Amino acid sequence: MTTPPSSILHSERTAALSGDASPAHQRARIVAVANQKGGVAKTTTVVNLGAYLAAAGRRVLVVDLDAQANATTSLGVNPRNATPSTYDVLVDDRPTAEAICTTALPGLDLLPAAPDLAGAEVEITQIMARERLLARALAQVADRYDYILIDDPPSLGLLTVNGLTAATDGLVIPVQCEYLALEGLSQLLRTVQQVRDVLNSKLHVLGVVLTMYDSRTNLGQQVVQEVRNFFPKECFKTIIPRNVRLSEAPSYGQTIASYAPASSGALAYQALAAEFMQRLEATTPNAPPV
Ligand code: ADP
Ligand code: MG
Repeated sequence: MTTPPSSILHSERTAALSGDASPAHQRARIVAVANQKGGVAKTTTVVNLGAYLAAAGRRVLVVDLDAQANATTSLGVNPRNATPSTYDVLVDDRPTAEAICTTALPGLDLLPAAPDLAGAEVEITQIMARERLLARALAQVADRYDYILIDDPPSLGLLTVNGLTAATDGLVIPVQCEYLALEGLSQLLRTVQQVRDVLNSKLHVLGVVLTMYDSRTNLGQQVVQEVRNFFPKECFKTIIPRNVRLSEAPSYGQTIASYAPASSGALAYQALAAEFMQRLEATTPNAPPV
């Protein structure tokens, strides 16, 4: 059994779970953020969307499912101190609540990743019902949150399949506004279809977020048009601009909401959070939109 690295961390973990779920509260809406391409702003979207959902009074859990642990670092937690972590929850059946820690933002909790998650992809192939490990783990804490956001790794492997299987309320696909933006998306959509057929009948594309938009280039505008033609209903109206503040914030272990709240990136993620809540809260809990 692993020991928490410090009593401070331990008390953080306990605090994360001290609030009782209100009796009227429904199960959390669980949304995966996936795209097998790296560097399209999956992590940036999970962390900053999560921050603005929390700022709007929602109880949010960010789940780091990537061995690179960028979401963990971005929320101010050192992955090397993250014990237990998603690995222990998935591979060793550790209670999910034991791995959750709070962040500097009230209402925003984290299920952190540690580097050992890199081995999990292979190790969980041996486990029964290996695609449902995350869904089962999140069910243990789903009554404590309004939203659970899953940061998937840049692949379509077993960890991403676990993320998609757990995502009862849909998938958000970040698409970078660059050349060949749509490349690989048909493969992602095929995986979504397979997971929906076999593992999670509720899985659907909840939304597509255009990221790193540069209004000064014609290419950016062309890509926006191309993606909107491909996903006419799914694209969020909000477009995330390229903004250096968004790339600086993680190195301070902060979200854009505290690092540069007046920046264009902050305003965009705030607007995205409003649209996201509107999409999900306008429907009955956990039902796909009509
Ligand atoms: P992924 O999780 O898909 O691999 P990241 O969220 O880590 O992508 O983003 C890739 C890189 O781009 C990171 O360095 C991040 O800080 C930066 N980045 C993401 N979104 C923006 C943006 N809108 N403007 C500027 N830099 C961004
Ligand atoms: Mg990432």
